Amino acid sequence: MSDLLTLRRPDDWHLHLRDGAAMQAVLPHTAQRFARAVIMPNLKPPVTTTTLAREYRDRIRAAVPQGLRFEPLMTLYLTDNMPTAEIDRAREAGFVVGCKLYPAGATTHSDAGVTDVARIDAVLERMAEVGLVLQVHGEVTHEAVDVFDREQRFIDDVLAPLVARHPTLRVVFEHITTRAAVEFVRGARAGVGATITPQHLLYNRNEIFRGGIRPHYYCLPILKTEDDRHALLEAATSGDPRFFLGTDSAPHARHTKENACGCAGMYSAHAGIELYALAFERAGALARLPAFAADFGADFYGLPRNEDTITLQRRPWTPPASYDFGTDRIVPMFAGESLNWSLVS
Ligand SMILES: [Zn+2]
Repeated sequence: MSDLLTLRRPDDWHLHLRDGAAMQAVLPHTAQRFARAVIMPNLKPPVTTTTLAREYRDRIRAAVPQGLRFEPLMTLYLTDNMPTAEIDRAREAGFVVGCKLYPAGATTHSDAGVTDVARIDAVLERMAEVGLVLQVHGEVTHEAVDVFDREQRFIDDVLAPLVARHPTLRVVFEHITTRAAVEFVRGARAGVGATITPQHLLYNRNEIFRGGIRPHYYCLPILKTEDDRHALLEAATSGDPRFFLGTDSAPHARHTKENACGCAGMYSAHAGIELYALAFERAGALARLPAFAADFGADFYGLPRNEDTITLQRRPWTPPASYDFGTDRIVPMFAGESLNWSLVS
């Protein structure tokens, strides 16, 4: 087996960058590895207009370290009250690739999310007409539904009807976590894809409780069963172009994770390609990593594939216990544990 792996520079099709000093702290990790990333709009307040997206994009571009090239692909945050004219503005701006649907209350900063997708049907129709992609956080939020069942229920109650109602809308089912989601995407019409995170390929839900409650393994959608993990791994390594890379790297200051009510999200940007290399290698499918990481997402979004490359080397390294995070610290995935692949260039 070769000790070097050179692949087309990948893109991250689902990323949280936050803002200000926190964004400046985490952005270099992503920009060292990825050419582009789809930037999630769940700031406080959320990025609901093209004007806010333009300003946010300018702040991100200004924070890219010298010598690196990185293109943020912006998204708008859908609310019950988004006017269809905003979709036209987003399309005209050129730098907005889609709109993110957060069911109200589903995850970090989602209080302003959509309370009922029927309310945004006109907006979704306009998105389909102008070619914007819908990115979906696919979980129902009713108290009565078990946290482990929320994705599956969303498929039946919301996503399948939505995909049928809008037959030309391109939809990304973000950060899928279940066998049910894999099967839905496999059986769906053309124009439906899914991103898969490194944590859902590497861990099952036991990880949250191994030896005690471990807040750094808490994310939403929450880690699922070993059977679900196998289904995701099989999908990611199958060569099916509907499944592609999206880290969902979600930085939270350490004290907000190590807390009586800890935030949801795992930080993976510091090893955003290395973690996938580990998962694919363990599955005996390293040869399938380049297309998953660098080809299928660009093809889905109708964007050119990157022309330059990155190289990974089989050389163990250990992510630190924490990284700088503005005025705080952030605990990364694999903190203090050995990772077998390193980024060399
Ligand atoms: Zn996310």
